[in-house]
Amino acid sequence: MAKTLKTSAEGRKCAYPKCNRLLSIYNHDAYCHVHRDQVSQGPGQKDPYRHPTT
Ligand SMILES: [Zn+2]
Repeated sequence: MAKTLKTSAEGRKCAYPKCNRLLSIYNHDAYCHVHRDQVSQGPGQKDPYRHPTT
């Protein structure tokens, strides 16, 4: 009966500053889905290199 589903603790919140989004127990990341993308990309990755318009 007691299936051991891999879940995280309940009631965790996104680790991103000022983000109070509750994380799902199935979300094993420290961030919500919005900020997980942001932190994984890192700084500077958001804007790909653009050729200067001369
Ligand atoms: Zn967040």
